[in-house]
Amino acid sequence: MGKDNKKIVKKLKPAKLVKATKKEVVKAVKTERKTKNRKEAVKKELEPIVLQAPRGMKDILPEDQPYWEQTRRVTEKLARDYGFSRIDTPLVEFSNLFNRSIGDGTDVVEKELYSFTTKGGDKVALRPEMTAGVARAYIQHGMNVLGKPVKLFSTGHVYRHDRPQEGRQREFYQINYEAFGEQDPILDAQMIQVATRVVQSLGIKAVQIQVNSIGCPVCRKDYKDLLVSYLESKSNKLCVDCKRRLDVNPLRVLDCKEDKCSQVAASAPQSVDHLCEECRVHFKNLLEYLDELDLPYTINPRLVRGLDYYTKTVFEIWSGSEEGRKSALGGGGRYDGLVKLLGGEATPAIGFALGAERLIIEMKRVQAKSYKGLKPKIFLAQLGEMAKKKSLRLFSELEKNGILVAESFGRGSLKSQLRVANRLGVEMTLILGQKEALDGTVIIKNMISGEQETVSSAKLIDLVKRKLKNDNVVVYHDNHDNH
Ligand code: AMP
Repeated sequence: MGKDNKKIVKKLKPAKLVKATKKEVVKAVKTERKTKNRKEAVKKELEPIVLQAPRGMKDILPEDQPYWEQTRRVTEKLARDYGFSRIDTPLVEFSNLFNRSIGDGTDVVEKELYSFTTKGGDKVALRPEMTAGVARAYIQHGMNVLGKPVKLFSTGHVYRHDRPQEGRQREFYQINYEAFGEQDPILDAQMIQVATRVVQSLGIKAVQIQVNSIGCPVCRKDYKDLLVSYLESKSNKLCVDCKRRLDVNPLRVLDCKEDKCSQVAASAPQSVDHLCEECRVHFKNLLEYLDELDLPYTINPRLVRGLDYYTKTVFEIWSGSEEGRKSALGGGGRYDGLVKLLGGEATPAIGFALGAERLIIEMKRVQAKSYKGLKPKIFLAQLGEMAKKKSLRLFSELEKNGILVAESFGRGSLKSQLRVANRLGVEMTLILGQKEALDGTVIIKNMISGEQETVSSAKLIDLVKRKLKNDNVVVYHDNHDNH
C-alpha cells in the first residue's frame, strides 16, 4: 500500500476496517479519494474569479482601437512600400531558441522569459521578441534560396516578465521588420529610414535616431576585455546587478539606468573607437547614407541593446526632441551571426521592432490623428412584426452593395428609432412599416429637409446609391464578388 493510501486508511474509522478484507480496504480508499477530489473541485469552483487582466497585461478597449487601427494601417503600408512580405510565427517556441539566440546572460532570457514545460514534456517559452522566431522560420522554410534581401514583416504580442510601469507591460505588441541576406550598410540606413518613416507617419514628428556600432565578434572581444578591465577598476561604484553583469554581459553595464553606473559608463572606453577595419568602414558608410537621407542621428556610445545576437549597427528611435526624455519607441540592429548560430547558412541580417503601446502613448501625447472609420449616412427603421423581419434582409442587401447602414432593430417605436438616427447624424432614413412591407415599398426620409418619398423595394438599392453619389458620399465598397 502506498504512503498516501496508508494515510487514508488511518483516517478511516478503525471500527469499519477491523474485520475488513483487502478488497474492502481498497474500496474504502477509493471512495475516500473520490470524496476528497469532489471536495477540492467544489472548493475550486467557489474560489472567487479575479475580474482583472493579469498584472502587466491590458485589454485594448474599443475607444483605443482607432489608434491601433491607425498603427496597423501605417505599419502595413510602409512594409508593402519598402518590399516586406508578411510572416506570422507562433507565440510559443522551444525555449532553447531564445536561450541560444538572445543569450543566457541577458535580462530577457534570464529574468523575463515566460517558459514552461508542456503536458507532452516540451520545454517551450512565450516569445519575448520576434527576431528569433522569424530567423528560425527563415531557416526552416529554406528562404535562403529566395532573392536577397528577404524582407519579412510581422506583428503580434510578445511577453516579458518585467516589473510593469507606464510604457512597460508584460504582454505588449511589437511591429517587426527583418531583412536577411544583405551586408551592405545601405540596408542599415534603409531600415533606420523605415523605422523613422513609421513613427513620423503616425504623427510623431519629433524623434531622435540613436546609433552605435558594437562591432563584430572579432573586434568586440578585444573591446570587451578593455571594458571589463575598466569596469573592474570601478566595480565598487557599480550597482549589484552590474557587478554581476561584469561577468555575464559587461556591455549591459553601459546602458544601466542607475545613476552611479551611468557615471562610470560615461568615461568607459567606447566600442566605436575599437572597431576592426571592416566594422569601422561599415559604420562610416552607414553614417554617410544617413546624411544623404537627411536623417539627423546621434551617435550614442552607450547604446548596446540587450541581446547577444547583435553585431555592428545598433539603433533606437526615441520619442521627444528634448534632451533627457528617453522613451524608446523602437530599436534594432544587425545580427550577421544569428542564422548561422541557429544552424542555417551564414546570412547577414538586420531588423528592428517598434512597440505599439509606446507608439500609441506618444501619439496621444502629441495629439496625433487616430483612424476615423466611415460613419453610416443611412438609418434603417422598421415598424411592425412583418416589417421587422423584412428589414433584416434589406439591411443585408444594402450591406452587400457596400452601403453602410445603421439600425436599431431592438426598438419598436418609430419615434425612438428616429431619435437614434438623429443622434448618429445620418442623411437619410429608410422606413419600412406594415403597409410598405405588404406593398413591397420603402419610404426614404431626407433627414435634413424632412421630405419623404415612397419607392419600390426593387429599385431601392440603385436609388440609394445614386442619392449617395449625388451627395458626394462614397459607397464604401462595391465589390459584387462578395455576394
Ligand atoms: P527592445 O528590443 O527590447 O528594445 O524592444 C523594442 C521595442 O518594444 C521598444 O523600443 C519598446 O517600444 C517596446 N517594448 C520593449 N519592452 C516593452 C515592454 N515591457 N512594454 C511595452 N513595450 C516594450
